[in-house]
Amino acid sequence: MAVISQQALQILAGGPAMIGRSPKTLLTSVSVKASSKPSRGGPKCWEKLLLDYTRKYTKEVSFFTRGPLRFFSSITVGGASANQFIRYSSMGDSALSNYSWPDNQKPRVCILGGGFGGLYTALRLESLVWPDDKKPQVVLVDQCDHFVFKPMLYELLSGEVDPWEIAPSFVDLLKNTSVQFIKDKVKLLQPTDHLGLIGEKGPGTLSSAGVAHLESGTIIEYDWLVLALGAETKLDTVPGSAEYAIPFSTLEDACKVDSKLKFLERDQFGKDSSPIRVAIVGCGYCGVELAATISERLKDKGIVQAINVEDTICPTATPGNREVALKVLSSRNIQLYLGYFVSCINEAIDSNDSKESGHNKFILELQPAKRGMESQTLEADLVLWTVGSNPLVSQLEPFDQYPVLPLNGRGQTEIDETLRVRGHPRVFAIGDSAALRDSKGQLLPSTAQVAFQQADFAGWNLWAAINGRPLLPFRFQNLGEMMTLGMNDAAISPSFIEGLTLEGPIGHTARKLAYLWRLPTDEHRVKVGISWLTKSAIDSIALLQSSLTKVLAGS
Ligand SMILES: Cc1cc2nc3c(=O)[nH]c(=O)nc-3n(C[C@H](O)[C@H](O)[C@H](O)COP(=O)(O)OP(=O)(O)OC[C@H]3O[C@@H](n4cnc5c(N)ncnc54)[C@H](O)[C@@H]3O)c2cc1C
Repeated sequence: MAVISQQALQILAGGPAMIGRSPKTLLTSVSVKASSKPSRGGPKCWEKLLLDYTRKYTKEVSFFTRGPLRFFSSITVGGASANQFIRYSSMGDSALSNYSWPDNQKPRVCILGGGFGGLYTALRLESLVWPDDKKPQVVLVDQCDHFVFKPMLYELLSGEVDPWEIAPSFVDLLKNTSVQFIKDKVKLLQPTDHLGLIGEKGPGTLSSAGVAHLESGTIIEYDWLVLALGAETKLDTVPGSAEYAIPFSTLEDACKVDSKLKFLERDQFGKDSSPIRVAIVGCGYCGVELAATISERLKDKGIVQAINVEDTICPTATPGNREVALKVLSSRNIQLYLGYFVSCINEAIDSNDSKESGHNKFILELQPAKRGMESQTLEADLVLWTVGSNPLVSQLEPFDQYPVLPLNGRGQTEIDETLRVRGHPRVFAIGDSAALRDSKGQLLPSTAQVAFQQADFAGWNLWAAINGRPLLPFRFQNLGEMMTLGMNDAAISPSFIEGLTLEGPIGHTARKLAYLWRLPTDEHRVKVGISWLTKSAIDSIALLQSSLTKVLAGS
């Protein structure tokens, strides 16, 4: 039986700064001794102490619960027995409440973040076969009410897809499962699994592995945690970028870019004014796909200016994909500024065009990355920023002196090959906010492909851990790369046929089919499949009609 030393008690009662310390510091400060004497108060006492401490601590950080009155800030939906789990909590009443799990006996799995990592882990857990008493209760927390299939955000700008197709609501996706969903923002984590106090339920041990604090004041106590918060675009890189540039990472970003483009298109309609200028900072995959999509949309009404610090586009892409992309970009109204970095962005003052149109223009200062090139100044109506990423897990700690979880220099959680956070046997971390190296020592890329495959392993390893089986080491299988280059164009290099690159309409159809296959849940896949078939049938009829009209007009 484990007895917790006085020192451990001091740490638990010692305030936020102590809990915020790195695992190393904590592990050296806590000693758990084996003793034959029963501990005074027993396990209930420790759990109570931890929860009391949590409440006290949460009061100390009561700025989480201040703010404007918000109703229905958190919604929980359940599966089979549906309404029984629908729960509303408001921040306005500022009550801190413990999330009440439906069952006191079953393992409690809390998944933070409902993207490629989190949502697919929840679905994987649901699909596994569990012994009756071991099937965990799963709660999924996300700040948004919808999942986003990010690789298809470009298609919102080209009008190829509707928002419901690539951003279905969690309520819809999870309605036939037992996974519960809470719409809320995760603010703080207090893992306790690194203290060495967890064991089989019994005297002197804790069953809980920690708690997650949500913005609404809800506290979720869990046995297992999956961290999958993803990353956001790093915007505050150069002066003016945070104020004037728009990132392209969320559904909201895509809708904002679409409405800015609509505004510029309307403003230019029927006028003989200068072309719409869109500046895209960064020519990695995202920058190039955006450039191809927007240039196709604007046609001769606009010019896309794409800037990259490297002297090529997509430096990490396969040669085949890069070649196809360069061919497509050079056939459109796109100016490439390769070997330049943007040093600052300013608002253009007193430009005649701005006064007439009522919208602001921006000036980008470009500096050469190498000697022998002149610096440049570009004017733009819209600036899109695609460079750099900020893992959101690094934003969880408000007491920043000591991170709660081990983070690397990029702000990603350090994990081992079973996908568990180093030093935290009950916390899995996957996707863009986790750092794992392959056998060659290279960091795995932050892609949906990696997150999706990790979700599969995280689900399996949770099953193994809960059922006392050995955990599997994660091995990434590179399936290849795909990029959209417009409504009828794409580049695909599958990894299993070396040297093959599919392009044009064939590449476009293959990419769409691959993504259709990857959509979450069978029901959603079928709905989207029918919708895309209907749209392409309508497009074909329209094309046939216009060809016939031309032929008849010619005869
Ligand atoms: C425009 C674009 C195109 C891309 N194209 C491709 C591609 O073609 N192929 C490819 O492999 N990859 C692509 N990616 C990368 C891929 O989308 C990501 O690597 C992948 O989404 C990572 O999955 P994740 O689960 O880690 O994070 P995400 O999918 O981003 O999910 C994270 C979730 O956590 C939630 N969240 C974040 N913080 C909080 C918080 N504090 N509280 C509650 N919820 C929170 C978010 O709302 C989000 O739902 C693309 C990315 C973008 C932006």
